[in-house]
Amino acid sequence: MKLRPQELKPSGPTGWRPGPILAIESSCDETAAAVLDPDGIVLSNIVFSQQAVHEKFGGVVPELAARAHLGRIDLVVSQALAQAKVARTALSAVAVTQGPGLVGALLVGVNYAKALGYGLGIPVVGINHLRGHIASAWLADPTFPLACVVLVVSGGHTHLYRREANGHCVLLGRTRDDAAGEAFDKGAQMLGLAYPGGPAIDRVARSGDPQAIAFPRFHRAKNSLEFSFSGLKTSLLYKLREMASPLTPGQMADLAAGYQEAIVQVLVTKALAALHQTNLSALAVVGGVSANSRLRAVLGEYAARGKLRLSLPPIEFCTDNAAMIASAGRQLLMSGERWSSDLAISPMEGLMNPNATRGVGGVNERKENAYL
Ligand code: ADP
Ligand code: MG
Repeated sequence: MKLRPQELKPSGPTGWRPGPILAIESSCDETAAAVLDPDGIVLSNIVFSQQAVHEKFGGVVPELAARAHLGRIDLVVSQALAQAKVARTALSAVAVTQGPGLVGALLVGVNYAKALGYGLGIPVVGINHLRGHIASAWLADPTFPLACVVLVVSGGHTHLYRREANGHCVLLGRTRDDAAGEAFDKGAQMLGLAYPGGPAIDRVARSGDPQAIAFPRFHRAKNSLEFSFSGLKTSLLYKLREMASPLTPGQMADLAAGYQEAIVQVLVTKALAALHQTNLSALAVVGGVSANSRLRAVLGEYAARGKLRLSLPPIEFCTDNAAMIASAGRQLLMSGERWSSDLAISPMEGLMNPNATRGVGGVNERKENAYL
C-alpha cells in the first residue's frame, strides 16, 4: 500500500520555518554531511572519503560503496551537527542528493534523510547532484547574483548554462566528446602522471612554459558555445610519439603547461562568449576542474579588471561535498519547495526537464530548459 504524503506527515506545521538545514550527499564514494544556517553560511562540512575502500580495485565498487555509506552515515551526520553546534531537534529541513549516482549509495542517504525528517516532522528535499554543484557558487558569497552564467566543469561535465534568478536554467552549450576533467585525466595518463590527472597536470605545469609547445584550441563555428577536447588529446599523443622517451622534466613540464593552457583558454573564451551573448556579467565556475590554478588565475584577472563578477567556490566546495547540497536545498526551500515524504532516488537523473526530448547532444537539448 502506498501511503500518501499527508498520511505519513506527523501533526504540526508542515511549511519550512527558516532554520539550520542539514544536507547529506552519498551518491558515489564520499559520505558527506553539512549544516547551513538560514542565511546560507556553512556551519560545518564533513566529507568522509571511501578512497581506501576502493583504490585496490582501481575504481568504485558499488556494493562496497553502499556498505561503507551505511557504516558511516550516522557518524558523519553526528559530526556535522556537533561541529555546527546544532541539535537535531533544531533542524528546519533535510536536503539529500537524490541522483544521479549509484543506486545502493543513494538509497542509504535518501532513506536516512527521510527517516530523520519524518522523526523530526521537518521537510526533506531531494537534490540533483549537478544542481548541488551549481549551488556551490553561493556558498562563499551568498550575495552572488542569482541570474548568471554557470560553467560546470567536472570529470563528467563541461556544460554552460544561463541561470535565471528563479533557478530556471537553460543549457547554452556542452562538450561534444570528452569533459574537461576527462581531458585532464586522459592527458595525465598519456604523460605517465598519477590519477586523478587534473591536480597532477596542474602541479607539473607550474614549472613549464605554456607557450613552448603549441596545442590546438577547438572553437567550432563562430559564436558556438560547444566544446570539444578529443582533438587536443590526439595532438598530445602525436607530440609524444615524435619526442624521444623518457621525457626530460623540462619537456614534461612544457607539455603539461601547453596542454593545460589549451583547455583553460577554451573554457575561458566560451564562458566570456556566453556572458556576452546573454548580456549577463556574473559567471560561476563549479565542479572539480574549477580547482585548477591556471583557470582560477586567468578568470581572476578578468574579474580584477572589472570585466565580470566571478564566483569560484573554495576548493573544498569544488569536489563532492554536502554543503553544496545544503545550498541547493536552501534555494529550493526559499522558493516554496516542501515536504517530500515519498521521495525516491533518481539514479539516472540528468539536469534536463524530464518532459523534454532527451537526445544526446541534439539541437533540441539546447532549447530545453532545466529546472535548478
Ligand atoms: P565528477 O563528480 O564528475 O567525477 P568532480 O567534480 O568530482 O567530477 O571533479 C573531478 C575532476 O576534476 C577530475 O577529472 C579531476 O582530474 C579534475 N580536477 C580536480 N582538481 C583539478 C585541478 N587542479 N586541475 C584540473 N582538473 C582538476
Ligand atoms: Mg561531482
